[in-house]
Amino acid sequence: MEFNDDVSLDASQVQDTRGSGGGIGGRVALGGGGIGILGAIIYFVLSQLGGLPTGGGGVPSLGSLESGQAVTSTDLSAECRTGADANKSDDCALVAVINSIQGYWTDQFARSGTKYQLAPTNFFTGSVRTGCGGATADVGPFYCPADSEVYIDLSFFQELQTRFGAQGGTFAEAYVLAHEYGHHVQNLLGTSGRVREGTGPTSDGVRLELQADCYAGVWANHATTVPSSPGGKPLIKSISQDDISRALDVAARIGDDYIQKNLGGGQVDESQFSHGSSAQREKWFSTGLETGNPTSCNTFETNNLG
Ligand SMILES: [Zn+2]
Repeated sequence: MEFNDDVSLDASQVQDTRGSGGGIGGRVALGGGGIGILGAIIYFVLSQLGGLPTGGGGVPSLGSLESGQAVTSTDLSAECRTGADANKSDDCALVAVINSIQGYWTDQFARSGTKYQLAPTNFFTGSVRTGCGGATADVGPFYCPADSEVYIDLSFFQELQTRFGAQGGTFAEAYVLAHEYGHHVQNLLGTSGRVREGTGPTSDGVRLELQADCYAGVWANHATTVPSSPGGKPLIKSISQDDISRALDVAARIGDDYIQKNLGGGQVDESQFSHGSSAQREKWFSTGLETGNPTSCNTFETNNLG
């Protein structure tokens, strides 16, 4: 994927807390600021607070913890000003992607007469305090409905390639972020509140996750037309067929059956499905991508999840 060189980015949509030790006890990560240094960071896991599911629903809200302090180690607002920066730097590419995703939803909500609320993405390393409790990178990227923020340790993108065997690439990463923003949309629309049962092949939890995949596809459909500012040039210049297949490749590798078979015990147990199978995740991303219409993401109404 390529960004238009002369468009402006809004780095304020990202809170960069990498290397701030914003997680627990204010420790400072050694060699902080970079990515892929996870092994060098020793943090305590607040396991007694309960793990964070990657889904949007049912996340416990623990009022005693404050959100991660934004002590910036890299100044993204100085580094990521234009699309040209996004074409050169991975961090700035993610800023541009987040701008595009939120730009799409801002317009989409406005078209239906409602207001989209911007949600920041927090780049952290190792561990982080959130409105949903303490979390470590082990849980993968997630959305916290209590503070309306997306959290990601960017080493997850390396892990997708080394551990899950994904091809990777910026657009594959964009799919992951767009999925998390799909949960924010669900939170704004009140959909997350519909989730009663969390696991199982046709559970509300799986329907919520597949809908977030579909919303990611909807954004992808519009990605090359979302302007950088009202009436301005699109942030994203082009997306190739290779980009799309890389996103689908990730969708397949984070399907429950793939994970159970290849990274878990080897047996597929549908009763433990939380996000949907690989085929379902690909199907719903594709549905959003083909229609470009959020109403096609009717995973709660359909009897055919794929
Ligand atoms: Zn999710």
